[in-house]
Amino acid sequence: MKIKTDILIIGSGIAGLSLAVKLADQFEVTIITKREAVETNTWYAQGGIAAVLSSVDNFNSHVQDTLTAGAGLCRPQVVEKIVRDAPRLIEELVSWGVQFSRQSNNQYDLGREGGHSQRRVVHAGDMTGNELERVLLDKVKSLQKIHLFEFHSAIDLILADKIRPGEEKKCLGAYVYDKNRDEIHTFEAKATVIATGGAGKVYLYTSNPDVATGDGMAMAFRAGARMMNMEFVQFHPTCLYNPGGWALAANRPIPEGKTFLISEAVRGEGGILKRTDNTPFMEKVHPLKELAPRDIVARAIDFEMKRRGDRYVLLDISHKDPAFVRQRFPNIDATCKLYGFDLTSGPIPVVPAAHYFCGGIETSLEGRTSLEGLYAIGEAASTGLHGANRLASNSLLEAVAMGDYAAKELKNKLPRMKQMDLAIPDWDPGSAVSTDEAVVITQNWDEIRRFMWNYVGIVRSNKRLKRAQTRIKLLKEEIKDYYWNFKISSDLLELRNIAQVAELVIESALKRQESRGLHYNLDYPETVESEKKETLLVS
Ligand SMILES: Cc1cc2nc3c(=O)[nH]c(=O)nc-3n(C[C@H](O)[C@H](O)[C@H](O)COP(=O)(O)OP(=O)(O)OC[C@H]3O[C@@H](n4cnc5c(N)ncnc54)[C@H](O)[C@@H]3O)c2cc1C
Repeated sequence: MKIKTDILIIGSGIAGLSLAVKLADQFEVTIITKREAVETNTWYAQGGIAAVLSSVDNFNSHVQDTLTAGAGLCRPQVVEKIVRDAPRLIEELVSWGVQFSRQSNNQYDLGREGGHSQRRVVHAGDMTGNELERVLLDKVKSLQKIHLFEFHSAIDLILADKIRPGEEKKCLGAYVYDKNRDEIHTFEAKATVIATGGAGKVYLYTSNPDVATGDGMAMAFRAGARMMNMEFVQFHPTCLYNPGGWALAANRPIPEGKTFLISEAVRGEGGILKRTDNTPFMEKVHPLKELAPRDIVARAIDFEMKRRGDRYVLLDISHKDPAFVRQRFPNIDATCKLYGFDLTSGPIPVVPAAHYFCGGIETSLEGRTSLEGLYAIGEAASTGLHGANRLASNSLLEAVAMGDYAAKELKNKLPRMKQMDLAIPDWDPGSAVSTDEAVVITQNWDEIRRFMWNYVGIVRSNKRLKRAQTRIKLLKEEIKDYYWNFKISSDLLELRNIAQVAELVIESALKRQESRGLHYNLDYPETVESEKKETLLVS
C-alpha cells in the first residue's frame, strides 16, 4: 500500500499529537504509532510540567535552574525561549481541556521537584501523562485532516539520494511495518517528523514502557542526520525495586527490569532516602539532600548499594499524614499496594533506572534536523534545552514547545516546498524468509540491555566502555545478518534499533574525556573546561 500525505508524524506522545493538532487546519496529517496510540512515555508521566506560574517565581529563576542542571552544555537561547513560552503553552493545554490540579482558591497546585528553586510544576494528581494523552488523543480524533494508524512501526526513512544516486539528500517519508497485516507500506510525505520518544529500553532497568526503543534516533542516524549528546542518559533515582516475580495483589508475573516510577514529587513532599538499616544518607551528599539534582541522588544511591552490597535503598514518606499521601499520590499508592508495599505505613524499596535521554537527533529551535525534509521533536530530539542533565519536568515542556515551534515552521515552509519528481519504489523484501530462530532476538536483547546497565550505566570507566564497544560491534554484525535474511517483525526492528542506540551512547561516552552532568567516568572524575562542548555523531 502507498499512502501520500502532507506531513508524516511518527509517534503519538505529547510531541507528535500536539504538533498534529496545530497543523490540521491547513494540512493532511498522518500519524503512525507502533502500538495503541496511548502507549507512550507521555502516558506514564507523573510529576508534571515545569512553568513559571506563581507570583513568587520568575523566568530568570527557571532559566538559571535549567542551566545549572545542564552543567554548562545547555544552549542558552533555547532555554530562554522555552522557559518564557511555558505559561502560554500551559494555558493552551488548559484551553484544549487538560485539567491540572488546583488548590481550593482555584490557583494551580504547583509541585516542587529536584533542582527547582521554586514550586513550579503543574500536575494532574500523580497521573499528569494520562490526562495529557487523553485530551490530546480526543482532540486528534475529532479533527478530520488527521489520520491515525496504530500498530504501524516506521522501519527506515526514505531518502531521495538512495532512490536516484546524485539526487540531493532529502527525506521523502518512511517505510512502515503494519503489524496486524504483516505487510510493509510506503508513506510518502512532504515533511517527516520524528516524535518517537526515548530509548530507556536500551537498559535492563528502566522506567520507560516497551515502546521506548529509540527507533527514531536509530532511523535518523542511519539516514545521515546528526546526533547530539547521546552519552547523557538520565537515571531516575527512585523506581520501585522489582527483582522479578509475582505482583502480589494482582497475582500476575512482573518480569525483571519492568519497574514502576516513584515520582520525584514524593521526595518533594518530604520523602527521605535511607539505607536498608533505616539511616538517612543524603544529608552528607548535597545541601539540597533528597532534592539534589537527579544525577547526584542516583549516584549516591548507586554508591550506597554497591558499598553495602544491598539490592535497593529505602524511600520513606510514612511520617506524613497518610490521608495527604493517599490524596497527593493515588496512583503510586495503589501501585505500591499491588506490589505488596504500603507507602503510608513504612519505607518502600527503590532503585535507580534509566529514565530519560537528554541527547538525540540534533535540531534547531524549529525542529529542523541536519537532513532536508526531516524534523524531530520531543524526547527523540536534542535541542540544547537539557544540556548535560535535564531539570525535572522540563521534558514534557520541551515536547509541547517543540510541537508549537515545528508547527509554525511547517506552516511557513511547506506551501513553498516543491514536490520531487521521483517514483518511490515499494519495499524490497529480497529473499527474506520467516525465522525459526526467534530465540536469537531474545538472547541479543537481553545481552545488550544487561551490558549497557553494567558497563554504560550510572558510573562508567574506560575499561567498561571499551568492553561494551567490543560487544556491541559483534552483536551489530550478527543482527545485520539476521535482519537481511529474515522477515521483518516488530521484535527484530526494535532489536536493530536498540543496538544502534546502544552504540551511539557508547561512542559518545568514549568521546567525552571528563565527567559532566549525567556522564560520570571513574577514569576522568573531574569536569574539564576544554571538554565543555556538545558531542556530535554522524554516520
Ligand atoms: C514513568 C515516566 C514518568 C515521567 N514523568 C515526567 C514528568 O513528570 N515530567 C516530564 O516533563 N517528563 C516526564 N517523563 C518524561 C516524558 O514523559 C517524556 O520525555 C515525554 O513524554 C516524551 O514525549 P514524546 O512525545 O517525545 O514521546 P513519547 O510520549 O514516548 O511517544 C513516542 C511515540 O512514538 C511511538 N513510536 C516509537 N517508535 C516508533 C516507530 N518506529 N514507529 C511508529 N511509532 C513509534 C511510540 O509508540 C509512542 O507513540 C516521564 C517519563 C516516564 C517514562
